Amino acid sequence: MKLRVYNTLTRQKEELVTVKPNQVSMYSCGPTVYKYAHIGNLRAYVFMDELRRVLEYNGYKVKSVMNITDVGHLVSDGDDGEDKMSKSAHETGKTPLEIAAFYTDQFMKDIDALNIKRPTVCPKATDNIGPMIKVVEDLLEKGYAYETEDGIYFSVEKFPNYGKLSGIRLEDQRHGARVEVNSFKRHPIDFALWKTASPNHLQQWASPWGMGFPGWHIECTAMSEKYLGKVFDIHTGGVDHIPIHHENEIAQAECWLGQKAVNYWMHSEFMLIDGGKMSKSLGNTYTVTDLVNAGYDPVMFRYFCLNVQYRQKINFTWEGMEAAKNAYNKLAAQLVAHKNSPATTDPAILKEYDTKFEEAINDDLNLPLAIGVLWTLLKLPKSKDVYQLALKWDKVFALNFDKVKEVKEQIVVPQEVADLAEQRLAARKEKNWALSDTLRNQIAELGYLIKDTANGYEITKK
Ligand code: AMP
Ligand code: ZN
Repeated sequence: MKLRVYNTLTRQKEELVTVKPNQVSMYSCGPTVYKYAHIGNLRAYVFMDELRRVLEYNGYKVKSVMNITDVGHLVSDGDDGEDKMSKSAHETGKTPLEIAAFYTDQFMKDIDALNIKRPTVCPKATDNIGPMIKVVEDLLEKGYAYETEDGIYFSVEKFPNYGKLSGIRLEDQRHGARVEVNSFKRHPIDFALWKTASPNHLQQWASPWGMGFPGWHIECTAMSEKYLGKVFDIHTGGVDHIPIHHENEIAQAECWLGQKAVNYWMHSEFMLIDGGKMSKSLGNTYTVTDLVNAGYDPVMFRYFCLNVQYRQKINFTWEGMEAAKNAYNKLAAQLVAHKNSPATTDPAILKEYDTKFEEAINDDLNLPLAIGVLWTLLKLPKSKDVYQLALKWDKVFALNFDKVKEVKEQIVVPQEVADLAEQRLAARKEKNWALSDTLRNQIAELGYLIKDTANGYEITKK
């Protein structure tokens, strides 16, 4: 079956045709590791993972590369200001590498918790300064970059196709540019390939232009070429990367290599919180730990994400998260019922569902539709074959369908039973075992079982 993906570059869905048959090379812009990833960041990586899983489901062997930005990129898009890694280092008294190691580790734990497969390679920027310097040298030699006392800049006017990804026009950028004008630049949106470091700058390396540090964009060009070659299949990132970071990557890579480097650009939309932006000042930049502390299994957040196609904005609310939890638990209960059934299903019927599932995922990762197909599949009469098919689809969903026996169906306990349970707890505290047993029997007569636990009790249906 053909796989179609939306290419930001051509602004349309296209059939995926890979550089090498049956193989996909993909690069994803990774995290800047100076703080915890928030759930919006993680949506971008759930998308990266869904893409990889859909490719693998289609039989492709995937090589996936995600960089770890452990060199601070600058606070403003205008190549000025304090870098984020140094800022964090100054605030905490730790070295940038200590900070980076800590947050990289946290990030890996988060992605593991969300069943995001670890990319084949996660190169660190600090391990790849040499290749970055090489790209800058080549760009200078070819006349695409120029040297200033502030560093080396890429000259956007040298690349006639600048703006092809986001549709911006250079003429419009010269006046009233949204990026602050830096006096070293020939054009306001020229960007730094290499910056000269002041003596007290924490992260700096020797280069042909003195001590300095790389610009952010050059990282991705140097590392994608190193690990995936001159031309690779898919580049992913969040939509915020389209107008600057990816536009700049295209410019420097195409000028450096003299050819197109990326065939498909894919971008995931943003996550909003309560309909608005996520921001530290609003205190709504939630992390996976926040979700766990609020009683949610991270896989429920993954389920929450899968219900909105990656090119649509997704709005996180705690009510929405609660609804996702309830839906996930219902799903799990139904899966268990199918799993435990000895009955079988006509393979022709299952094939129909399987085809619908494949059509959905192969239509630019329409996971919400695929989830819909799953729900209708589960409405079939209980059968172990249905469970097996759902399990096969879970290679894409990655929602732990193989572990569903551990997920308990949420039950609504009638008030009468809840009251009896409380009375029993009180009786036990007073060591009134006879009353406790009587209350247990009364609860059983109403159709419920009560089990004592370390924190009190647990009620299940008989
Ligand atoms: P950063 O670590 O800031 O470079 O961001 C890592 C990834 O998260 C990038 O792909 C961003 O596009 C993405 N991202 C940042 N904020 C959000 C958000 N609110 N919703 C979805 N993705 C986001
Ligand atoms: Zn990047």
